[in-house]
Amino acid sequence: MDIIIDEIIRSRRKTIALQVSHDARLIVRVPFSTSEKLIRKIIYEKRSWILKKQEEAKEKYKKVYSKEFVNGEGFLFLGNSYKLYVVDNVEFSLIFNNENFFLSRKLLNKAKEIFIKWYKKQAYKKISERIAIYSKISGINYNKLKITNARKRWGSCSSNGNLNFTWRLIMAPLQVIDYVIVHELVHIKERNHSKNFWNKVRIILPYYETQKKWLKKNGHLLIL
Ligand SMILES: [Zn+2]
Repeated sequence: MDIIIDEIIRSRRKTIALQVSHDARLIVRVPFSTSEKLIRKIIYEKRSWILKKQEEAKEKYKKVYSKEFVNGEGFLFLGNSYKLYVVDNVEFSLIFNNENFFLSRKLLNKAKEIFIKWYKKQAYKKISERIAIYSKISGINYNKLKITNARKRWGSCSSNGNLNFTWRLIMAPLQVIDYVIVHELVHIKERNHSKNFWNKVRIILPYYETQKKWLKKNGHLLIL
């Protein structure tokens, strides 16, 4: 069986490392001087491990990525997973009581849309609340807040001081949301990722690196 290498990353490292990403891509990290032939040989030797890892990743990916909107299925909100219950004969579309989600069976065919609408509303509410706090702490004023549908970009900052955040962020723990908010807020003053920029972030959130890492590791799970 032929194994596809999705990405080869050459760097100043001394050893070769194989990694199967959460979406089952094979990433190979090698020292600068490594030949294609040697990479192929190692892939061949490790093929059963790679295939096993890719199979596992795909299974996990599928489970996480396709919501079925069935009873007992978990939905993330502020870093916790809450179970969904589909209920009959009710007037509401979606209700959350801090313990479970309740979705009307009549609207099951629109479940995804309804959830996104709910997440967007919550994102706007929570993020406005948190920005107000960090705007005060930092003394940095922003112009307008917008909630976007971005898939990969957690937040962005425009030249006129508007801040944008994806609704997906509301699935993350509050500290992570705070980190993204502070990150974008500081961008109003520092447009780049210079030392100065990170110093300013650190003054407001001394432990921001934990949240930054969390996002890198778990960001792909914040989907519907
Ligand atoms: Zn940035």
